Amino acid sequence: MVQAGSVVGFGVFGLAVVAERVEAGELVVEVESPGGQAVFCAGCGVRARSKGRRPVVLRDAGAAGSVPVRVLWDKRVWACPDSECEAKTWTEQSGLAGPRRVLTWRAGEWAAGRLGDVEGSVASLARRLGVGWQTLWAAISPIAQQAVGDPGRVAFGARVGFDETVMSSAARRRRRRFVSAAVDAGTGQIMDVFDGRDAADLEQWAHQQPDGQMAAVEVVCLDPHEGYRKAVRRLKAEGVLGSNVRAAADPSPHRASG
Ligand SMILES: [Zn+2]
Repeated sequence: MVQAGSVVGFGVFGLAVVAERVEAGELVVEVESPGGQAVFCAGCGVRARSKGRRPVVLRDAGAAGSVPVRVLWDKRVWACPDSECEAKTWTEQSGLAGPRRVLTWRAGEWAAGRLGDVEGSVASLARRLGVGWQTLWAAISPIAQQAVGDPGRVAFGARVGFDETVMSSAARRRRRRFVSAAVDAGTGQIMDVFDGRDAADLEQWAHQQPDGQMAAVEVVCLDPHEGYRKAVRRLKAEGVLGSNVRAAADPSPHRASG
């Protein structure tokens, strides 16, 4: 159920909510910076003159990411009255979103967290936020890489990656056959190769591993493919993988398989 008032926290970005409504299952929030404040030119320090507004549309994460949220930010545009000044005109900025971004920072962080908790794929999270796959990936990949990027942070064999490869291509009366490789993402060495690329295939492989091996895994690097995600989630629930295992998405994902 979409409810007005469920998105808060614009104040810390210097923005105030001026209107809220529900539109086609989406919460639409109009925000702006408070008026009546003196703004000065960063180039020469002269008091700036208003040049009107430039509306910007952002996608935000609702409370716990529950609702798609569209933020309409009526950005103020300023001009330096000194014609000699280099600054000319500029648009106000805020920590809510970077310049020319579609997603708010916190929406990117929310999605990176969900991906890390194996609670969503890039494709499913992008759908929930109402953005394209590439847009979301651009927002979360720096966050995800920062979280798991330091190879010294985890022990040998603690980072395991899975990726699928076409073993034999489709022909008449034969479907494409896939194999999956399990890779030690710390060393880059292939640990094993198993048939298939579905959740059941990965789970079967995990159950066949020597005692303690899966429990030692701290990070799984996944091709953002639903089959792997489902398997990792269930293996966590079963206790085969530790409950604190984090997922890192493969930095060279296949768009079609999410
Ligand atoms: Zn100036």
